[in-house]
Order: sequence, then C-alpha cells, then structure tokens
Amino acid sequence: MKLTLYQLNLPLAYEFTIARGSITTQPSMVVKLEHEGLSGYGEVTENAFYGHTFDSMTASLKKIVPRLEDYVAQSPMELWPKMHSLIDGDMFALSALDIAAHDLRGRQKGIPTWQDWDLEWKNVPHSSYTIGIDTIGNMVAKLHELPDWSIYKIKLGTVHDIEIVTELRKHTDAIFRVDANCGWTVEEAIRNSKILADLNIEFIEQPLPITAAREDKSRLAVESALPIIADEDCQTVPDVGRCAGLFHGVNVKICKCGGLTPAIGMLRNARQLSMKTMVGCMVESSIGISGAAQLLPLLDYADLDGAVLLKDEPARGATVIDGRVTLSELPGCGGELLTEKLDSYLIRAKEVLC
Ligand SMILES: [Mg+2]
Repeated sequence: MKLTLYQLNLPLAYEFTIARGSITTQPSMVVKLEHEGLSGYGEVTENAFYGHTFDSMTASLKKIVPRLEDYVAQSPMELWPKMHSLIDGDMFALSALDIAAHDLRGRQKGIPTWQDWDLEWKNVPHSSYTIGIDTIGNMVAKLHELPDWSIYKIKLGTVHDIEIVTELRKHTDAIFRVDANCGWTVEEAIRNSKILADLNIEFIEQPLPITAAREDKSRLAVESALPIIADEDCQTVPDVGRCAGLFHGVNVKICKCGGLTPAIGMLRNARQLSMKTMVGCMVESSIGISGAAQLLPLLDYADLDGAVLLKDEPARGATVIDGRVTLSELPGCGGELLTEKLDSYLIRAKEVLC
C-alpha cells in the first residue's frame, strides 16, 4: 500500500459567496491509495472555517500509515472505527482516505462502488446547481448562464432574502431550494417559510444557527410551512438521531462525517427515522464528486455541483450536466487525477507516505 497526497489549488469559474465570506480559488487535498498497480482516489477540500489545512490533514494521515496495510485484507467499512481512533477524530483527513479506500476496493473487484454496497442504481435524484450570494442582478445572471438545470439551490442569509427569491422566481419554474446557512432567527424562519412556500420553494436548509435553542428548532419544525433540512446541525453519525423531531431531513457532508462509510450509516439511519436524505458537497474536483455520487441511490436530494463551479480541474470522473449525474466508466468511484494537467494546479510537491 502506498499513499500519496496532493495539495491542489482549484480555480473557481466565478467568485463564490455564502453568508460567511467569498472565495475565488479552493485549496484541496487529493489522496491516492495504491496497491498492486491499482489506484484509489479520494479528496477533501481544505477548510479554514473548520480548521483543516493540508498540513494538519497530512499530520493526521501519518498516524494511520503503520496500519495502511490493513486495507489489503479488510474492507473500508470494517476498518473505519479503527482508523477513526488512530486519526484522533480528524474527519476531513479520514474522509479523503475512506473515499480512496472504497474507490480502490471497487477497482480491485472491477465493479462500481455503489454496487459493492449492494445498492440499486435506479430513480437516482438530480443534483441542484448552487447560486451563491451576490447582487440580485448577478444572481439572476447566474441563473441565465446555466438555464437548463432542473433544480437550483439559492444561498441566502442577507437582508434581501425574499427579494432575491421573488426576483429569481420570475425567470424560471425550476425547483428552488434555499440555504440560509444559519442566517435567520426562528421568527424570521417561520415568517419566511410562509412567503417561500407561496414562491414554490421545495425546502429550507439550515435556517437557524447550531447554537439556537432546542425549543426554537422544535418550534420551527412544527410551524414552518416548508420542510427544514439540517446541514450544520448534522455533521457526524450521532447527529442524525439528535436531529429527529427538530428537522425534516438531513444534508450529509462526507468531509464532516469522515467518509463514505459513516455517510451510508447516517443516510440509512435518517430514512429509518422517516427523515429525508440529502448529500451536499464542497467546491471540489470531480474526484470528490465521484465519491459522493455513489450515494445517490440512498438520496432524496443531491447537491453535487462542486466541480461544475470550477473553471478547470486536473481531474475527471462523474459528470453533472444540467443536474443529471453520469458516473465514470471506471470501476470504483471512478474519479482520477489527470497527470498531464496536474502541474498547473499543484501547490506543493506531493508528499509520499509509504
Ligand atoms: Mg448548507
């Protein structure tokens, strides 16, 4: 087993803004796990907000190196708890390794990863395309740049939220979802839910801060005119149970929960608790998206436009065109680095851990 880490700088097609700030490039870590001539790829984006840098994640993955050979005989699912304790809970680093391990296993078996999990590829949901916070004119322009998507996710959390959605709604009958990224109070959320329901919005993602009182979350779940989906409130496996009764669904982020292995468990648990299931992504390359796409058979909603938001990338894999996700023809998760393009995006000399 050989593990190689790449720090990439992914250029965005446009500046991307959410309630917390704006970015024009996204640093990302791709990991390659090699064994007997086959390679599995995983990815996690660096995230200053959550304190995950290339250096911190490299340090975490070094703790796992002595047990890397365990992946030869054991599956990523069997090994996840052991790797989780070895890595001291660094979910971001673990998620990249877990995706790579699932990818490698699929390639060894010669089947797609979803099939390795005994899922059925049918009626998988389309992905939404995210419209970041901008001037209303620019948000409308963004909609017109990619007018054929069936679903748009509109980032909110401004003083103009209703105005934004009202204006966008004049331009398309496509499905709209909104994500307030913790930007509303419970009163605002209840009031906005009624207006947004009239604007034919499908659901509201994470309107309240994580720190909002449980009574407020519970009240919103009852009084909202629209389903409320947890994002920031649902980061790791135990959070799904905690969200029951407070949210109508959960948006699972692979990097936050620690990989595809815990994501499968969270999605299945959410369905058992009668909650809707969703997987979201970061701004990331087609390698990360290819991993997340394996979960589509377990989803009601998908938000996998991370690579669509890039100007270019040194990777290929699953494609997302107008919301329709098409998997790579390769087995496993099917994402891979394009060596001929790598030099243009490599921030740092690759670090090889054997
Ligand atoms: Mg969100």
